[in-house]
Amino acid sequence: MNTHAHKKLNPEWSVDSWKHKTIRQQPTYPDQQALNQALATLGDLPPLVTSWEIIRLKKYLAEVAAGKRFLIQGGDCAESFDDCNSSIISNRLKVLIQMSLVIIHGCQTPVVRVGRFAGQYAKPRSADMETRDGQSLPSFRGDIVNQNTFDEAARVPNPDNMLKAYHYSAMTLNFIRALVDGGFADIRHPEYWDIAWVQHSKNAEKFRELVSKITESVHFAEVLVGRPVNNLSSVEFFSAHEALHLHYEQALTRRVPRQTGYFNLGTHFPWIGLRTNQIDSAHVELLRGIENPIGVKIGKETESDHLIDLCQTLNPNNEAGKLTLVHRFGAGNIESNLPRLIKTVQKADLNVVWCADPMHGNTESTSNGYKTRRFENISKEVEESFKVHKDNGSLLGGVHLELTGENVTECLGGARALQEADLSRAYTTQVDPRLNYEQALELAFSIKDFYHQ
Ligand code: PEP
Ligand code: MN
Repeated sequence: MNTHAHKKLNPEWSVDSWKHKTIRQQPTYPDQQALNQALATLGDLPPLVTSWEIIRLKKYLAEVAAGKRFLIQGGDCAESFDDCNSSIISNRLKVLIQMSLVIIHGCQTPVVRVGRFAGQYAKPRSADMETRDGQSLPSFRGDIVNQNTFDEAARVPNPDNMLKAYHYSAMTLNFIRALVDGGFADIRHPEYWDIAWVQHSKNAEKFRELVSKITESVHFAEVLVGRPVNNLSSVEFFSAHEALHLHYEQALTRRVPRQTGYFNLGTHFPWIGLRTNQIDSAHVELLRGIENPIGVKIGKETESDHLIDLCQTLNPNNEAGKLTLVHRFGAGNIESNLPRLIKTVQKADLNVVWCADPMHGNTESTSNGYKTRRFENISKEVEESFKVHKDNGSLLGGVHLELTGENVTECLGGARALQEADLSRAYTTQVDPRLNYEQALELAFSIKDFYHQ
């Protein structure tokens, strides 16, 4: 790309140049002084992640683009402060570790694990206000903004929640780093990441068989070489969240000594949601200036020209691993939309990682008022994504999922064939329905099959 075009597309950027763009999906704080105070405090707190980690993740994502690695991204739709506890965090890690082992073994490819965690506290909403029984209150925008309870005081956006979000993110990351460094993911100790509540599960059984096959091979290799095989005791995790709350993201976007440019040090891998991916968007503006790898959600409504503008704006140097396109169409909508976008990217010679989000295009409501998703549609969208990429000479690099390690009943179907009547039993999500442990593991086994088709 010539410098002239580059300049034209990418005029000067600063950490607050987003304020001159179209700002969407932000809370209205009643007290400006309290907001400024919270932001000043936040701006002085230490980073949550380092530039070295961010650069390493970008390198891994370049390998994903080249077909040498598979990306598994997963976690809550909306994290909640109340769920920041030992068992929920470790169960979420366990399910991601188990899924990645199924894929590493089944696809014979390394993976990169990214959690929707340690900062996934801000949610875009379709309406600013929510009305119940004649009362209208500001919508719940995630724990970083206000509280979910339908109560006047609870729904007032409070800037101190940004500080809480920072602290909860730090606690979550601290626990994850300690577990991983301490050998939690050691292949010689699969009992560390066994999920206690699972009994008589077909997939859990299948998984245990796979693990014993792998541990046998490891022992064999160790006997053969006469010493322990190194590097089996730890795995890497990276954090990701939707970079939705612009004040918060700006406060964590900083320069780093001995590095050029700015880094978002609140997460490794921020992404832009579908509702804020317009080219005039303040979100696109803030994220185009940082060195982190970036994700952007695209869907049925994404025009080809818009996609080119997005890629050139967010990845002006066409760097490999920098930009991940996360497509979410819904099962049955892939064939009619994805080939067009793949061809657009190929024609313009743009470097991207393609990732499938099979969750957000498959949301529906039941007759008894639950927001849900059918396992078969989720699985179908992943299968179709693999196929369409292959048919068009492109590569599906990964999946982006909403899941939990808990025994929730939020998505229908799966091995236990959850029905509408089952949803009320354990429906605990704050926003979107998540795959439970068994459904997530089942999907990992299917991904392994789709990968080879
Ligand atoms: C999400 O990832 O939770 C989300 C809101 O997705 P999207 O932007 O694709 O609608
Ligand atoms: Mn969601």
